[in-house]
Amino acid sequence: MTLPTICVRKGGLVPIMVREVMEAAGVREVVAEGDVVLVKPNFVRPAVSATGVTTNLEVVEGIVDVVRSLGATPVIGESCGVPFRTADVFSALGVDALAKKLDVRLVDLDTYPAKDYEVPRPQTLDTVHLTSLLDEVDSVISVPVAKTHNVTTITGAVKNMHGTVPDTEKWRTHLSGVNEAIVDIAQAARPDLSVLDMTTCLEGHGPMTGDPVPLDAVAACLDPVAIDAFIAHLTGYEPEDVRHLVLAHDAGLGQLEYAVEGDAPEPRRFARARFITPSLLIQQYWTRVQYFLVRRFGIDLRSINKNAGGLILQYPRFTAKCTGCGDCVDACPVDALTKGEPPRTDSSTCLCCGICWNVCPVEGAAGYTRSLRWLLDG
Ligand code: SF4
Ligand code: SF4
Repeated sequence: MTLPTICVRKGGLVPIMVREVMEAAGVREVVAEGDVVLVKPNFVRPAVSATGVTTNLEVVEGIVDVVRSLGATPVIGESCGVPFRTADVFSALGVDALAKKLDVRLVDLDTYPAKDYEVPRPQTLDTVHLTSLLDEVDSVISVPVAKTHNVTTITGAVKNMHGTVPDTEKWRTHLSGVNEAIVDIAQAARPDLSVLDMTTCLEGHGPMTGDPVPLDAVAACLDPVAIDAFIAHLTGYEPEDVRHLVLAHDAGLGQLEYAVEGDAPEPRRFARARFITPSLLIQQYWTRVQYFLVRRFGIDLRSINKNAGGLILQYPRFTAKCTGCGDCVDACPVDALTKGEPPRTDSSTCLCCGICWNVCPVEGAAGYTRSLRWLLDG
């Protein structure tokens, strides 16, 4: 049996690494002249890629360039994580500005029409409700970040396809058994190629929070299960211990064994997501209450949810080292900061995107709150 090959590059310029791994992995087998190609990044919430939470825009740009160089047309599509609005996330991360600069179509999958797709080998759902954009494209490129995940152990190319579900439908997949549901989704929307962003990975309580692990690397593979097995090894797990990977393998989505070509980062034991913790219970309880109220009564608690997210998420925190330069105020995408020394944060507006503490030029002047999650979980 031929093993799928994970092609890896490390320590180079991002666009060059992206081009090399895509070519080595066999992009020409799945993208042809005249094709339309869905590029599906992971923009789960408005947090810049330096936090390890979202796909690096340089990686996305590199993929767009490669697809175009093959005479195909790229389309970028995403539905971000609940409770965030995808349009806010696109704006906060500069995705819409990137799409404009590259003159590439950007699709908010929350507002785009969706339809039911049959699942060939159902694990929990006979049909999955996904974006109908899938019918308009010839191939799909999944662009995950290597992360630990508080429910699914790790998240990668397979789990990333959960973002083809509009946010109003995510309740169904969450309540149907996440591991099984994401395999059902990936059967209806199997990526033809996966490009793994390891420029900054995420360890700990992912996928929305945690601690960044910069590895300065990119990988690609035609087999989404194999590249996720690679993530498992990278982060200190055996693929057989990751339930959705075993299910995905059994459903015929790919292999758990692989070969590596190129200079892969040394595996290291990533800090683990904590499974049963007070903050996780709060997070899951709150999410389910919201889904229930929206679905049954049309009551949208997202503005409250955004504030309640402060129990879990990281808000900016400024120290006496702040010089009042205002760089963070200018960079904030939603004007949540008022200039000062230090700036003041409007927590009802703040998206917890992390841009302000990442642009700050003064060492130790800007960071983030440790939140109730830290108080509860240590
Ligand atoms: S205050 Fe900081 S974390 Fe909040 S939205 Fe603005 S830039 Fe993002
Ligand atoms: S960028 Fe840093 S130093 Fe400048 S105002 Fe913001 S926190 Fe203060």
